[in-house]
Amino acid sequence: MDKRQNYGGLDRFRIIAAFMVAAIHTSPLLSYSADADFLLTRVLCRVAVPFFFMVTGQFVVRDFFTCEGKALEKFWKYCKKMAVLYGAAILIYLPVGIYAGHYKELNAGLVFRMLLFDGTFYHLWYFSACMMGVALTYLMSRLIKGKRLKTCAENSAEMEKNIGFALTVSGFLYVIGLLGDSYFGFLKEGTLVYNVYMQGFRIFSYTRNGLFMAPVFLLLGAEIGNRKSNFDPLKRQINCAGLIVSLLLMAVEAFTLRNFGMQRHDSMYIMLIPTSIFLVKTLLTLEGPSSKILRNISLWIYVLHPAMIIVVRATAKILHLTGILVNNSLVHYFAVVFLSVLAAAGISKLMESSKKENFKCGRAWIEISKSALRQNVTALRKRIPDECRLMPALKANAYGHGALLIARELADMGVDAFCVASLEEGIQLRRQGIKGEILILGYTHPELFPLLRRYHLTQTVVDFPYAVLLNRYGRKIHVHIGVDTGMHRLGERCENVDRIYSICQMKNLIVDGIFTHLCADDKLEKPEMDYTDLQVNAFYKVVETLEKKGCGRPEIHLQSSYGVFNYPELGEDYARTGIALYGVLSTKEDTEKCKDILKPVLSLKARVASVRNIYAGENVGYGLKFKAERDMKIAALAIGYADGLTRGLSGGRGTALIEGHRVSVVGRICMDQTIVDVSDIPGVKAGDVAVLIGKSGDEEISACDLAKETGTITNEILSRLGTRLERIVV
Ligand SMILES: *Cc1c(COP(=O)(O)O)cnc(C)c1O
Repeated sequence: MDKRQNYGGLDRFRIIAAFMVAAIHTSPLLSYSADADFLLTRVLCRVAVPFFFMVTGQFVVRDFFTCEGKALEKFWKYCKKMAVLYGAAILIYLPVGIYAGHYKELNAGLVFRMLLFDGTFYHLWYFSACMMGVALTYLMSRLIKGKRLKTCAENSAEMEKNIGFALTVSGFLYVIGLLGDSYFGFLKEGTLVYNVYMQGFRIFSYTRNGLFMAPVFLLLGAEIGNRKSNFDPLKRQINCAGLIVSLLLMAVEAFTLRNFGMQRHDSMYIMLIPTSIFLVKTLLTLEGPSSKILRNISLWIYVLHPAMIIVVRATAKILHLTGILVNNSLVHYFAVVFLSVLAAAGISKLMESSKKENFKCGRAWIEISKSALRQNVTALRKRIPDECRLMPALKANAYGHGALLIARELADMGVDAFCVASLEEGIQLRRQGIKGEILILGYTHPELFPLLRRYHLTQTVVDFPYAVLLNRYGRKIHVHIGVDTGMHRLGERCENVDRIYSICQMKNLIVDGIFTHLCADDKLEKPEMDYTDLQVNAFYKVVETLEKKGCGRPEIHLQSSYGVFNYPELGEDYARTGIALYGVLSTKEDTEKCKDILKPVLSLKARVASVRNIYAGENVGYGLKFKAERDMKIAALAIGYADGLTRGLSGGRGTALIEGHRVSVVGRICMDQTIVDVSDIPGVKAGDVAVLIGKSGDEEISACDLAKETGTITNEILSRLGTRLERIVV
C-alpha cells in the first residue's frame, strides 16, 4: 500500500493550462510561423479547457453518482460559486466590452446568447459552459438513477455503469459538436442537417459550449476520479506514452482538417478525448501536495489574462514600444503571462488576507500550525517501517484540534487511514469528503449498522457477542477485530482463540484487520515492560494461530503514540498515533524528551475584553475568592471553562501570555471569562491577544503545563477544548 495519495499533479498543471489558454488568445508563435502557431495554439493548447472540465468532473460531478443525499447540495454549492465568479468576471469586462462596442445592438436574444453560450467577453464562455455542463450531468445522473434516488450507491460497479451510460449520451452530444466545429466541412450546404446547424448558430456562435463539449469531459473526469490514484511507475509510463501518441494523432487530425478546409472552428477534435484522458491519468500518477494557492492563481490567470492583453497593448502604445511589445508575438505573450501571474497572485493574496482579517476579530480561537503537523508526520513516519502506515487518531475532534481541519491537512500529506471513537465522528468526516479507511474504535449500536455501510466505515469488533450481532445484520460489513490482551476494556479476550477464529469465519464480516491496545507502553520500567511483553506475545500468538488455521493474515496493528517511541519493533501495518501527532506526549517529562522531534500543533488564544483598575481590599470574581492586597490592573479575557480552560487553573494556578509577558489568573475561572492580573504590563487594552497555550515572545505555555498543574494528562486538556472555539490553520 502506498502512503501517498493526492492531487498535486493536477494542481500544478492548472497553472500550465492557464498559460495555454493565454497562448490561445495571444498566438505567441505567429511572428515566426503560422504552422507552428497553429500546432501550438489550435492543437496542443486545446487540451487546457477539457482538462479544467475533467478536474471539475472529478471533484463535483462524480458525487452526483455516488451519494445522492449530497448531490443536490453539491450541485447548488457549485452553481453558486461559479455564478459569483461569472458575475464578477462579467463586471470586470463590462467597461472593456462597452468600449469595444460589443453590446451596441443589445436585445434579449443577444443577452441570452451571451450569458448562456458565448460569454459576455470572449473567454467567459467557459464559465457558462461549466455551469451548463454540470447542470446537464446532474440531470443525467438523476434520470439514470430513477427510483434509487434515496439510497447511496453502495455498489461501485453500479455507479460505473451509470456514469458509463451518461458518457454515451454525452458522447453523442460531442459528435454533434464536432460537426459544428472542426468537422463542419463534411456538411453539404443546403441539406437539412446543414440548415439545422445554421439555425443552431443563431442561438450560439460555436458548438464548443456547455451543451455539446462540456458534459463528456465532466463525466470522463468523474469516471477517472472513481479509481484510486496510482503511483505505479509502470502505469505512469503507459499513460505518458499514450499521451504523446494521442497528441501526435491529434496534430495529424488537425492539420488534415485544416488542409482540406473543413474547420469552421478549431476547438473540438476526436483525438482530444483520448489525449485528455491520458493527460489526467498521467497527472494523477504524479506526487506532490495539493495546493489551494495554485488553484486560485490559475483561476485568476484565466479570468484576468484578456485584461492584461489590453494593459500590455496600451502600455506599449504610450511608451512607443509597440514594435517589440506587441508586434513580436512571443514577447507579447510573455509580457501578458507575466502580468497575469502578478495580478493573479495579488488577488489570491488579497483574498487570503481578507479571510485572515476576519478571524482577527475572533473572541477565542485555536491556531493549528500546519508546519508543525507536517513535521510530526514526517518524524513519526521515520520511526515506523516503510510498510507501516500512519492511522492517525481523529477521535474527540482530533484531540480538540478540529477533526476536519486535521484530516484535510493529513490527507494532503498522503495519509489515507484514520481512526475515530464513534460512528458519528466517522460520518462527519465522510460528509466533509474525507476519503480512505476510517476505523471506528468504539461501540456502534446495531440499529445503526446500515450507516456503517452507507459511509464505508470500518467497525471494531469489540467482543464475541458483538461479532454475532454484526454478522446477524445480514449484509457485509468491514471490520477490524479487537483483541483484549490485558487492558480489559474492549476486544475479545486473547485466550478465546476459538471464538476469534469463528469471528473470522462469519460470512458477513469482512475482516480487514486485527489489533490490540497496549495499556502500559508509556513507561520503560520493569513491571510495565514485562506486562507489555505479555500483551505483545499474547497478540502474536492469536495472529499466528489464526494464520495456521487458514484465516490468512489481515492487517495488524498494536502501536499507539507511546508504542512508536518505546517499542519501534512493533511497527506492523498501521500505527494508530494520536497524541504524538499533535506534537506532545501525555506528560511534561515525556514531551521534554521528544521536544526536538515533536512540535506542538495547537495554540489557544483569547481576546482581552476589558481592562480596569481595582483598589486594595476589593474582591474579584465569584465567591469572594480573591481580595486585592494592593491597587492593581486586571484584564478580563474572553475565554472560560466552557471553552475547555479548566476551572482547576483558578486562583493563580493558570497563566496567560500577553505581548511576551506572563500574567496569572485571578480568582475563579468563569464559564465564558477569565480574569488575569496585568498590573505589570503597560499599555494592555481591550482587543489585545492573550495566549493560553502556545508562544508569545520568549515565553511559552504548553498543554503539558496545564496538565501538570491540574493533575491530568495532556490528552485530556486538549480533547476538552470546546466546540465554541474557532479553529484555523496557520
Ligand atoms: C486513542 C487510541 C489510540 C491513540 O492513542 P495515542 O496514545 O493518543 O496515540 C490508539 N488506539 C486506540 C485503541 C485508542 O483508543
